[in-house]
Amino acid sequence: QAAKARFAERNVKSLGLHQEAAKSLPGGNTRSLLHTAPFPVFLKSGKGHQVTDEDGHTYTDLVGELTAGLYGHSQPLIQQVLIDTIKNVGLNLGGTTTLETRHAALICERFKLDRIRFTNSGTEANLHAIQGAKRFTGKKKVVVFTGGYHGGCYTFPGDRPAENCVDKDDWIIAEYNDIEDTKRKIEESEDVAAVLLEGMQGRGPCIVGKHDFLHQVQQSARKVGAVFILDEVQTSRLAPGGLQEHEGLQPDITTLGKFLGGGIAFGAFGGREDIMRVYDPRESNALGHSGTFNNNTLGMAAGYAGLSQVYTPAVCSEFSGIGDKLRQRLQDLTRDTKILVTGLGTIMGIHFLRDGKKELKSFRDRHEDAELRRLFWFEMMEDGFWITERGSVALIIGTPWAELERFVECVGEFLERHRS
Ligand code: PLP
Repeated sequence: QAAKARFAERNVKSLGLHQEAAKSLPGGNTRSLLHTAPFPVFLKSGKGHQVTDEDGHTYTDLVGELTAGLYGHSQPLIQQVLIDTIKNVGLNLGGTTTLETRHAALICERFKLDRIRFTNSGTEANLHAIQGAKRFTGKKKVVVFTGGYHGGCYTFPGDRPAENCVDKDDWIIAEYNDIEDTKRKIEESEDVAAVLLEGMQGRGPCIVGKHDFLHQVQQSARKVGAVFILDEVQTSRLAPGGLQEHEGLQPDITTLGKFLGGGIAFGAFGGREDIMRVYDPRESNALGHSGTFNNNTLGMAAGYAGLSQVYTPAVCSEFSGIGDKLRQRLQDLTRDTKILVTGLGTIMGIHFLRDGKKELKSFRDRHEDAELRRLFWFEMMEDGFWITERGSVALIIGTPWAELERFVECVGEFLERHRS
C-alpha cells in the first residue's frame, strides 16, 4: 500500500497522460506488455543508456527495448547513418535497393544462412518461416513448446495456444526441456511440417534450453523430415553467430528481428536455399511474401551499420562477458533467497519464486510471488533503474560498469528490506 501511494505521488504527470491516452487507445495502451498497474509510467526521451520519464526522473535503462535496444538511444554512428539516409537516400523508395542486398549478405555470413528475406517484425518472420515450411513439406502441424513466445499471435503459455493465437488447430505443444515428451510429440505425428524452438525462452523470462534438449529437438525434427526453425529473434545477440553458434545447432531456418534493424522495426527469416526457394518470385508457383516496409531504407541502413561497425564479433563476445559477470554477481547475491536469476550473456530474467526453486526448466515450474515481483519493479524505479515489471533485463552497449554494480547493490538492499 505504501509503495502504491509513493508510485502515485512520483508519477502525477504520467497518470494524467494515461487518462488522456485511454480516450483513444483501449486502456491507453498499444503494446500489451507495456501496461502496468495502476497505470504505466510515460517516457519522454532516451539518451545513451538512459531514459527520462514525463515526471522528470532519469533511469538507467535495463529494459533495453526487450533486446532490440542493444545500441541504446543515441549511438553516434547509427544516428549519423539514419540522418544521412534520410537526406541522401530518402524514405521507403518503393523499389529494390542495394541497401537490402548488403544487409542480407552480412546477416547470411554472420548467421550461416544461404538465403534470407526481410519482414517488419519478429512475429512476421515466424509467420512466413512457418508458411514456407508448410509449403516445403506439404504438411500442416507445427511443434512448439510450453512457455514459448514467437510473437503477438504466437504465444503458448501452457497446454494450449493463447486465445489470440492464429491457426489454432495446427499446433502440437511439447514440454520445454523435456526430452522424452519432445521426442514423442515430434516423432509420433505423421503431419509435422516444422518444429519452432527458442534456444532460450524470452518470455520466461530467460528460461535456458539445456544443450541435450536443444540437440534432441534438432535430431527429432531431422528424423521426421520436419523443418527445424530456430527463433533467434532475441538470442541472436548472444554470440557472433547467435545462439546456434554457441550451442552448435544447425537449424534449417532461423528467424531474426530486434537489434538487427539498428533500432528500426525489423524482422527476417532465412536458412537453407532449397526451403527459401519456395519464396523465389521467379518460380511460377512461388509463395507470396509482401510487406510495404520489408526493405525500408532506414532499417536496412541502420541495421547494416550496427552489425558491420558497432556489434562486431569482438564487441559481441566482450559484451556477452559483461552480461555473464553481472549475472554471476546477482546469482551470488541471491543464492539463499526466493530470487532466482536466469539467462545467458546480456539477457537475463529475475524470478521471485514462492517455493524458492533454484532451477527453472519450464515456464510451468514458475510459481511466482507476484507481489514481491511488483515491489521489486517499483523499488528499482525509485533507485533509478528502468526494468520490465515481469523482471527481464537486456543490457545496452556502453552502460557503465559502475551503474551495473550499483544495480547489484540496490538488489542487495532490496533483499535486506524484504527478508522473510
Ligand atoms: N520471437 C521471440 C523469441 C521474441 O522474443 C519476440 C518478441 O519479443 C518475437 C518473436 C516477436 O518479435 P516482434 O515483437 O518484433 O514481432
